Amino acid sequence: MTDKKASILIVDDTPANLHLLNEILVNHGYKTRPMPNGNRALASVERSLPDLILLDIMMPEMDGYEVCRRLKADERTHAIPVIFISALDDVLDKVKAFEIGGADYVTKPFQEQEVLARVATHLAIRKLIVDLENEIARRKEYEAELERMATVDPLTNIYNRRFFFERSEEELERSKRYTTPLSLILFDIDHFKQVNDTHGHLVGDQVLANLAALCQDAIRSVDILARYGGEEFIILMPDSTIAAAYNAAERLREQVATTNLTDGQINLTTTISLGVSSWDNEEATDLKTLIDQADQALYHSKESGRNRVTVWGEY
Ligand code: GH3
Ligand code: MG
Ligand code: MG
Repeated sequence: MTDKKASILIVDDTPANLHLLNEILVNHGYKTRPMPNGNRALASVERSLPDLILLDIMMPEMDGYEVCRRLKADERTHAIPVIFISALDDVLDKVKAFEIGGADYVTKPFQEQEVLARVATHLAIRKLIVDLENEIARRKEYEAELERMATVDPLTNIYNRRFFFERSEEELERSKRYTTPLSLILFDIDHFKQVNDTHGHLVGDQVLANLAALCQDAIRSVDILARYGGEEFIILMPDSTIAAAYNAAERLREQVATTNLTDGQINLTTTISLGVSSWDNEEATDLKTLIDQADQALYHSKESGRNRVTVWGEY
C-alpha cells in the first residue's frame, strides 16, 4: 500500500523534531522536504506539490492551523492530505484540526510506527481518489466520444440521419406549440456516380465532405443539417416560411454550382437538385409527410433538368 516514492513536506519549527521526522521518513524510502516554518512551507508547496504534508501546529509567526487553512483555500493544494503533529493533546484542538481540513492528527511524543502507518494510510487514500478522478475523467471523455459517434456522420462531420429524426421531431413539436412555420430542404448531388467513376471514390468522398462544410457554413445555427443518405442531404429550418426556405435553397444551389468541392487538384463543377416543403401550421402534418413532399419536389427538380430548386406543389 505504501508509495515509497511519495514526496512528503515536513514542517516543524523545532529542529530536533524536524530532524527526527525527516530521518524516519527518509529511512523508509520517502522523498522529504523539511521546512522550519509556515512561510517557507507554503513557498515550497507553490514550487512543487508534495503528496502529503506533516504539519506542526505550534509555530511562531504562522501556526499550523493557518498554514492548513491557506492550503485548503487554494484549489491547487486543497486536496493534499495534511497530518497535524502537535504536543497539544487537547480534544478541542483535534476537532479544530479536522474542521479546517486536516486529514489526521498525531501527538508528540509520537511512535515511529504510528507516524509511518498514518502517512501510508493517507497516501493510499489520496492515491485511490486520484485514480478514481482519472477514471471518471476518462469515462466522461469516452461517453462524449460515444455520443458524438451516435449523432455525427464520420465522413461529413454533420449530423447523421438518426439524430436528424430525433431533433426534427422536437422541432416539429415546438413549431406546433408556438404555431411557427417550419420548412425542409432535401437535396441530392447531380450525376454523382460519374464523379466516382471518373475521379475515384476518394475524390467523391472529398466532394461529400466539402459540400457538407459549405452547407453548414451557409445555414443558420438553428437549422439542422444532416446526411440523409449516400449523397443526399437534408436541412430542417425551424421558424422559416416557404419563401425563406426557397431563398435559402436557391442561394445554396448557386453557391455549390460556383464552388470547386474537390481539395483543389481537380477542376470539377458539382451541382445539386433541391426540393423544398413547408408547413404553415394550417393543417395537421408529420415529419414523414414533410419529407415525402420535399422528396417529390426533389424528384421534380431532377426530372426537369437538375441544378434547380422545386417547391412542393408548385409545378
Ligand atoms: P442523379 O443526378 O440522378 O442523382 O445521379 P447520381 O449519379 O448522383 O445518382 P445515383 O443514385 O445513380 O448514384 C449515387 C452515387 O453516390 C452512387 C454511390 O456510389 C455514390 N455514393 C454514395 N455514398 C457515397 C460515399 O460515401 N462516398 C462516395 N465516394 N460515393 C458515394
Ligand atoms: Mg445524385
Ligand atoms: Mg441518389
